[in-house]
Amino acid sequence: MPEPSTKLPTGLGVIFWVSASWIVLLVLLALFADVLPIRDPEALGIITREVEPFERPGWNAWFGSDGQGKDLFANVVHGARPALVLGLTVTLLAASIGTVLGVLAGYFRGRVDTIVMAGTDVALAFPAIVLLLAVRASLGNSMWVFIFIFTVLGIAPYTRIVRGATLGLAEREFVKAARAMGASGFRIITREILPNVVLSVLSFAFIGFALVIAAEGSLAFIGLSLDRTTWGQLIDDGRPELVDHAYLTLIPASVMFITILAFNFVGDGVGGAAAIREVSTVRRHRVGPLPDAHNVSGASSGDQRLVLDVRELTTDLVTGRGVVHAVDNVSFQVRAGEALALVGESGCGKTMMIRSILGTFPVAGVDRSGRIDVDGTDMLRADDNTRLRTLGIDIGTIPQNPLTALNPVRRIDAQIMEPMTLHGGLTAAEARARALDLLEQVGIPDPTSRLRSYPHQLSGGMRQRVMIALALANNPRLVLADEPTTALDVTVQDQIMRLLTDLRAGSDMAMVLVTHDLAVVEGFTDRIAVMYAGQIVETGPTARVLADPQHQYTRALIRSIPDLRLDPHSRLATIPGAPPSLLDPPPGCRFAARCPVADSRCRSELPSVTEVGDDHSYTCWHPAETTVEVARGR
Ligand code: SF4
Repeated sequence: MPEPSTKLPTGLGVIFWVSASWIVLLVLLALFADVLPIRDPEALGIITREVEPFERPGWNAWFGSDGQGKDLFANVVHGARPALVLGLTVTLLAASIGTVLGVLAGYFRGRVDTIVMAGTDVALAFPAIVLLLAVRASLGNSMWVFIFIFTVLGIAPYTRIVRGATLGLAEREFVKAARAMGASGFRIITREILPNVVLSVLSFAFIGFALVIAAEGSLAFIGLSLDRTTWGQLIDDGRPELVDHAYLTLIPASVMFITILAFNFVGDGVGGAAAIREVSTVRRHRVGPLPDAHNVSGASSGDQRLVLDVRELTTDLVTGRGVVHAVDNVSFQVRAGEALALVGESGCGKTMMIRSILGTFPVAGVDRSGRIDVDGTDMLRADDNTRLRTLGIDIGTIPQNPLTALNPVRRIDAQIMEPMTLHGGLTAAEARARALDLLEQVGIPDPTSRLRSYPHQLSGGMRQRVMIALALANNPRLVLADEPTTALDVTVQDQIMRLLTDLRAGSDMAMVLVTHDLAVVEGFTDRIAVMYAGQIVETGPTARVLADPQHQYTRALIRSIPDLRLDPHSRLATIPGAPPSLLDPPPGCRFAARCPVADSRCRSELPSVTEVGDDHSYTCWHPAETTVEVARGR
């Protein structure tokens, strides 16, 4: 099994370094032109006698001279100064303003996005040459006028690039995790989003820098130059001599061309470096015994108080296609020390149930009603401070894909320590010691060096262990694990489930495990809630529901568990059809269209809740009459 890489990818190549060297050389020449043994650019050869008029390029004058004997090399070197000052100032201003606007538009969306994008569209649609002529005619051709014009024109591309990147990042798991941990919008933007858009901005900044130089040269060529010697002005000055002394135009044009090319190559190289390689190799680790020092216990294991109490919860999402009834009148409870499995096919509302608890949704328009109490805090009605504190301290979340849940540009130690310093009140030193202990608890070998790693330097199993450590950072009362093993191979899946079970053993930590795989819940959870089309259709003790399912959907799910005792060539059982659209769910039982025993009553009348004792209940008009044997031998 190959080891995961521990080196950052570079792949910058020879062209990048040659281009970067050219830029560095240019900057050094421009900075030290006055102290280097270079002629005065304004000195006239016809007076000084050092250079002849129209002297061709050679040892005496490397780039030749013009009709007055001015040294072209000295003028090209001094002409680099305004080009670099203009490019640098415009790039810094446009990139900074564009980044702020783009992040605000992409993160807050809604009205902010509409206003910012409307301004951007107007800026892009406005004819640049008209603006240039108008401003230059009224304000002159000083450096500051050019900086103002190019900055105004340059903001829009940065805004669009950053907005697009932010829209994608805002849906990444690590941003959702930060929200779920109660981080403020400002903190999410500065800690999670900005570090991830910096390389994209930097990449375009080099290209934008080149565009500014090219634009200045083009303007000078049509007589709209700055009030000082620039490359564009040199090109323009040499134009009348193009036939007899072509070098006067070609040399500054070539220097400008090479410089623009160099900035573009460097920009491309920086952009390429932004693509952080994902490591797919998997290392397997033994799940070690857990030290007692940082057991997640917060009270006695016999404590049976309610940690999560969901009552008649309804969540409607307002989308462009209509109102999606994602969670419909759902009630369930999880007690201290208990693990509840929320099971069902993909699209049945399990993840939306978790999002309803956390208050993180993919759309802005959300209507929640009912009640969600987490360890006594009403999550729908509590003030922001109380809710954020509960999210940051009382709830830990374990996501489906740890690679997307961890911020790729921040080291593991910073990500684990943050919730402890932000919400737990620990100092940096205390948080680091706790992070080290947590990594040991979750079975990560050599935790000291792993703390300094970036997420891509860890295997998939290790990343999920880090996420578990992150979830446990503040000793939460409740852990929400949303398909925590889906992105892992079977061996690592088993290790992670056993690790979660070990961590919960003897503690009062409650857990909600979301999974579409009934096979993983047996042995790892105490109770099951089966979800279908946004509703809970059956709930009860895990062993009892698996052994004696009542709802036809639960029976169908259990039948679809692969049975390793069967002939390997036999057909796997499936549930025909697909869950109904939650935009307009059918009346009556939502499983009716797929149920083999559905009748007219099922299609018209919503089944009532039937209790069958031992905390086992279901909603079905025609429950199972016979026991379904649970698939074993997996
Ligand atoms: S209520 Fe009717 S349609 Fe729904 S699962 Fe039960 S038997 Fe099937």
